[in-house]
Amino acid sequence: MSTPPTVVVVGSGPIGSAYARVLLESSPDLRVVMFEAGPQLTERPGASVRNIVDPAEKERAREMSQGPQSGAYRESLGIPAGAVVEGMFTARGGTFLLDFGGEGSAHAATFPAVAAATNVGGQGAHWTCATPAPAFSEKVPFIPDEEWDDLISEAERLLHVQGAAFADSAIGAGIRTLLDREFGARLPAGYGVGTLPVAGDPQPDGTMVWAGADVVLGPLIEPGTPESERFELRDLTLVRRIEHENGVVTGVAVEGLRTRETSVIPADLVVVAADAFRSPQLLWASGIRPAALGRYLTEHHVVISTVALDGERMRELVSDEELADELARRAQNAADPVAAVNRIPFSEPDHPFSLQVMYAENPPFALDPAHPHAGNRWGYVNMGYGVRKHPRVEDGVRFDDGELDYRGFPNMTIEYALTDVENDEIALATEHLRRAGGALGTFVAEPRLLPNGSSLHYMGTMRMGETDDGTSVADPYSRVWGTENLVVGGNALIPTANTMNPTLMSVALAVRGARKAAEQLSASRAAERVS
Ligand code: FAD
Repeated sequence: MSTPPTVVVVGSGPIGSAYARVLLESSPDLRVVMFEAGPQLTERPGASVRNIVDPAEKERAREMSQGPQSGAYRESLGIPAGAVVEGMFTARGGTFLLDFGGEGSAHAATFPAVAAATNVGGQGAHWTCATPAPAFSEKVPFIPDEEWDDLISEAERLLHVQGAAFADSAIGAGIRTLLDREFGARLPAGYGVGTLPVAGDPQPDGTMVWAGADVVLGPLIEPGTPESERFELRDLTLVRRIEHENGVVTGVAVEGLRTRETSVIPADLVVVAADAFRSPQLLWASGIRPAALGRYLTEHHVVISTVALDGERMRELVSDEELADELARRAQNAADPVAAVNRIPFSEPDHPFSLQVMYAENPPFALDPAHPHAGNRWGYVNMGYGVRKHPRVEDGVRFDDGELDYRGFPNMTIEYALTDVENDEIALATEHLRRAGGALGTFVAEPRLLPNGSSLHYMGTMRMGETDDGTSVADPYSRVWGTENLVVGGNALIPTANTMNPTLMSVALAVRGARKAAEQLSASRAAERVS
């Protein structure tokens, strides 16, 4: 009897996890080995750090994910824990800046806030869990609509997406009413003011257990299931190279970071889902270098502000009793600041951006107690407009074989610029943000554009295309052009200009890629049996 096929997955974030799940559920004899460079943070692999109640434990989990800026590595660079290197943008908890400023740091002066996470569950252990679906020109034009709807439904199931999270919050409903009065008339049907879909499991007390890669892995990490017996997750194991010959991948070279031992793991299929910078870097380091690799970098730019809700306007819509209920509910889960999430999605032609509105009891920064809106009884909203970046070959990451980074990979230099097209849409979004703020209350933080890279949603660097014309890295099923059995996953595949949080879309693309790969593996097994 021949040995069962082995699939190697590089990276344990939501996308690698989606590949592992769909492949194992589609093929009863397949084995999946997943390699993750970072440590496992939680007892259940890949769980969201946001669910950790103890603040010290939460902080420790975040620090463990911060690669070169955490623990011993950070100390070896002479950077004391907690210090911010001069000129450096602080990364969000659980992530580290690629351009962290020490030896072996990437060069990202034009994209300074670019960050990543290195841990089981990837950035998916730290994410905000907003899961809108792409709309209009954000969608991939060469995937048929009917199939796309099915892929999105499957991605929503894998991520435990809730379409109407916090819908019973009276303040959340009040915010929607005020935004609808301001903008509703110009928005197309189905794309008006609504709740923002989020990934998680609502609890009976009104709080949320946020989803991480753990929910995507599902049965793979439940003891005793048939899938768990065919799945292995190895943390602190760095994939150094993809082994290949004549377009056929034969395995991966890995280094155990606990022992520093290296070995080669044979594979029938390799899936690289190691984020939008480290995936193309691994391909480059392995000598797989399609012309578009690393190019066409996009994100969505973010214009944000914080507003104190207007008591008079809110009182018209929310009774004192409802406010008291809301505050009591909030007090039960003080560790999680988000109490209601609303949005206005992207639509064409008049609303080429997406608005996200998070209601919280306190602003995300210390407000001077003497400020006239400090301690606002009605709370605050943090609002952000996502503005698209139109893909250009000029924007991207270059890899330098002559300069190694802190992991010993060809170092990265990011080249990126906003053009008039983006600057015009940013100006329009800022105007909209002023109107939204005016409709809801008073600004306690004025609208401002965050530095490039702040969205944490990096797309395009391994974009998929319909044909192999040099402007894409992968085919419509995410297989790298010119290879038989190398598949790439993640936001890097997204070829369009987007304003929304991309994880749901990338999981949908992963479902498509995994279904096709499972079909191909079983076809080649059948052919082997015949010959
Ligand atoms: P990742 O989750 O980045 O995982 C990649 C993994 O690969 C990492 O763990 C890394 O260590 C590992 N790896 C890299 N190189 C190697 C190697 N050579 N060998 C082995 N392992 C390797 N998205 C949304 O859609 N909605 C949101 O609300 C949202 N909020 C966010 C908030 C924060 C604070 C952060 C940090 C991110 C947020 N995101 C959000 C982005 C979201 O988390 C990512 O889109 C998602 O995690 C991407 O999944 P992935 O599996 O492709 O990559």
